[in-house]
Amino acid sequence: MDKDWAYKNKEIQTLLAKEASFKEAIKKLIEFREEMFVQITQIAETYPDEAFSLMPFPGAAGYHCKTLAYSIWHIFRIEDIVAHEMIAGDEQILFYDKFFEKIASPIITTGNELEGKDIAKFSKKLNIQELYLYSKTVKESSNQILLQLQYKDLKKKFTEETKQKLIESKCVSEDENAFWLIDYWCGKDVKGLIQMPFSRHWIMHIEAMRRIKNRICKLARKGVNPVAFCGLSCDHCFLGEWCGGCRTEYNVCSFATCSEGRICPNVKCCNEKNMDGCYECSELENCDKGFFTKSNDGANAAKAQSLYIRKYGKKEFLKVQTRLHEKYDFQKVQEILGQDYKEALKILEDHT
Ligand code: SF4
Ligand code: SF4
Repeated sequence: MDKDWAYKNKEIQTLLAKEASFKEAIKKLIEFREEMFVQITQIAETYPDEAFSLMPFPGAAGYHCKTLAYSIWHIFRIEDIVAHEMIAGDEQILFYDKFFEKIASPIITTGNELEGKDIAKFSKKLNIQELYLYSKTVKESSNQILLQLQYKDLKKKFTEETKQKLIESKCVSEDENAFWLIDYWCGKDVKGLIQMPFSRHWIMHIEAMRRIKNRICKLARKGVNPVAFCGLSCDHCFLGEWCGGCRTEYNVCSFATCSEGRICPNVKCCNEKNMDGCYECSELENCDKGFFTKSNDGANAAKAQSLYIRKYGKKEFLKVQTRLHEKYDFQKVQEILGQDYKEALKILEDHT
């Protein structure tokens, strides 16, 4: 488990145990959930839909054998059912505002009954942006429920009536891989539910999502030119684990994600000029498009790198990058090369 997340989770559980620190525990839990949710947002906002049904670890033991879409569905179906059928006793978010219809899911259950290829088939059917909106709404609704809880509520147990209600809702499949969930939830008090569906369950599945997306990026980059259009090296970029690079569908560089049509201005311009990269362009020295925008901290470094590629080629450039990154981290390299592009070019040449 991510050390920082494990620490935060443990701290919250300790605070939750005492009445005096209960409110602080809820505050920290909500902050922690928001921190973890950022990962889901980044994936939902930057990855193409096809990524959500890929299974880069089929058959692996662990949560990473699923898909990104399944992981989101599963985390938030469980939370929605537990938060609304059990704790708040009101309507689930899935049936509110037509989320179920908009997501186009073939099931209303938690998905525990699905295995292997059925998980990928199920994932392909989902409308990912609606699924993301659903997950966000469930998260926000649960946060409100958490804020309304009192310390004494933590000990609340669930009756046979709740169990029957869950069975009748059909939100848990009768398959033996799923049906146990009802006994599992009903055997816990509210505190036990907070400790699992609202926190630990998130950690386990979001960590698995990180592994899935890292692997998807790695596969997407296989055999693809690692030199970015602007002259950065995707092999040495700090976004390496997140991004497939700007020559794949998995480009999560902010210059792409924040631009119109999600196409980086440098990529667009190079494609229009039918160029492999800005290093082939005669306007490079005076260009201020996209990454070369004067206010961008990395503009000089990228321009120097493009000039280096123009003079010495991509192969030599990647070697120099490796040499520099053996000495310094990404940030420091950008800082060293960031002053003046002519000076930065000399620094790159000194490392040839
Ligand atoms: S700024 Fe554009 S060209 Fe450079 S790495 Fe990002 S997406 Fe690629
Ligand atoms: S004009 Fe600028 S962005 Fe376009 S190819 Fe030339 S250097 Fe790259």
